[in-house]
Amino acid sequence: MSETIAAKTETFFTIEMPYRERMETRRAVFTGGDGPRVAVVGGIHGDELEGLYVCHLLAAWLEKLLLTSPGSLLGTVELYPAVNTLGLDTLTRGLPVFDTDLNRAFPGSASGPLPDRLAAALMTALSGAALVVDIHASNIYLREIPQVRINQEFDDLLVPIARRMNLDLIWLHSAATVLETTVAHSLNSCGTPCLVAEMGVGMRITPEYCEQLMAGILAVWQDMGVLAPDVTIPKTSHTAMIADDSNVHYLNAQTSGMFIPAASHWTDVRRGELLGTIVSPFRGETLSEVRSPVDGVLFTLREYPLVYEGSLMARVMARKGGRS
Ligand SMILES: [Zn+2]
Repeated sequence: MSETIAAKTETFFTIEMPYRERMETRRAVFTGGDGPRVAVVGGIHGDELEGLYVCHLLAAWLEKLLLTSPGSLLGTVELYPAVNTLGLDTLTRGLPVFDTDLNRAFPGSASGPLPDRLAAALMTALSGAALVVDIHASNIYLREIPQVRINQEFDDLLVPIARRMNLDLIWLHSAATVLETTVAHSLNSCGTPCLVAEMGVGMRITPEYCEQLMAGILAVWQDMGVLAPDVTIPKTSHTAMIADDSNVHYLNAQTSGMFIPAASHWTDVRRGELLGTIVSPFRGETLSEVRSPVDGVLFTLREYPLVYEGSLMARVMARKGGRS
């Protein structure tokens, strides 16, 4: 496929490899008018692919826009779909060889080892953007509904933006539980707003979630003046529920074994309802049952069946007031 003329592909980080190849990490840049600059990041974890597909959908939408109505892109859009290229190439969550979680390496250092340098280069590239959306896809173990996770330290600024993102859940995390070495925390701390979107499951693409988030991102960009107000964007129809430490219940395995779900992900469940069982591969017995502690929404569900005692199998959010 030939490269589209709509976007410029630029290298924002490069390093020489031991056998003289160069590793290059790239972004796609769609340049319009002198309005706000926004960015979308994916693939910081090499086993998470949902963000790559959201970037594809946004690129396809922008390419069409620039062909049919080039004056309607009022700002600049940067897509960083595959930040952890080594991890994506080798189906590894962290940075291979360095055995480092790249999202624990921020803000990084331009003179440190590779993970620090890559983190520093991404920070430099993103700093000053009007908005960054960092897309994650859970991991291979748990499936998540489309959501935004926000550190309460930055909720005044970020919650109103998150409400426009067409997602189903806004999960507010208390400052004490927040990891300070993530790209989002590092960017927010230095004044570049960054929202963390989390959805789907590792190693898979959930197209309907990706389309939902794409529509939300376009709506936010239109609000911000990145897109002209008269441009037709996909409809947004999702309203986010709010979760925080007070209404999220964690269900951890009481025994090791194989988790067999009995309820479907993203459904309403009743207090005491059977969500799944843990069974033995050696014997016919059920080792333990997993039941919902509250009336609520089953928003996280175990995808990978093997569990150890204490493994997370599900999260249920009790509805705050009103609907149950
Ligand atoms: Zn991730």
